[in-house]
Amino acid sequence: MMDIAPHSMPKETGWIEIIAGCMFSGKTEELIRRLRRATIAKQRVKIFKPKIDNRYSSSDIVSHSEQSLPSILIEDINDVLKYSNESNVIGIDEAQFFNNDIIKVCNKLANDGKRVIVAGLDQDYQGIPFEPMPQLLAIAEYITKTLAICVNCGNPADKTQRKIISPERVVVGASDIYEARCRKCHYIPEES
Ligand code: ZN
Repeated sequence: MMDIAPHSMPKETGWIEIIAGCMFSGKTEELIRRLRRATIAKQRVKIFKPKIDNRYSSSDIVSHSEQSLPSILIEDINDVLKYSNESNVIGIDEAQFFNNDIIKVCNKLANDGKRVIVAGLDQDYQGIPFEPMPQLLAIAEYITKTLAICVNCGNPADKTQRKIISPERVVVGASDIYEARCRKCHYIPEES
């Protein structure tokens, strides 16, 4: 796992870190780990997540391993700018549920001197790049790709396998309808 040593941190400017991967790859856990460390260092941290995600808790970001931090629920990513004035470190979870305004917002925050840490699904259930993650990966200084373990064969996995048939790109759920699969074992569920 990549970590950012204090001596390699940029000075007098902000920057963008992206944590990208499939479901069950530990993205949120890694986000929480970085934000906790910043909090321990007495930095002022704010955490945001999209209102769409009600899986575990209405106002905390929670990983599948049940680690949690208090967060602010927002529908419009531009609202991050309203709540971030006093903060040094901004965390954003489930970035794939925000629109492309997130690119402008993250650049603005980093240009204003803040450390911006964004976690999100980089591919949808078909293995297609999930906007705005590709754009965020392009503008970030630091990128971490988290891998899960394929439920079928044990290979490193970077695909989210949907276990139900649905034409919708977004179906909110956890291990009831998704599992991690490698490239070899991943398939798109279709009516037969
Ligand atoms: Zn596999």
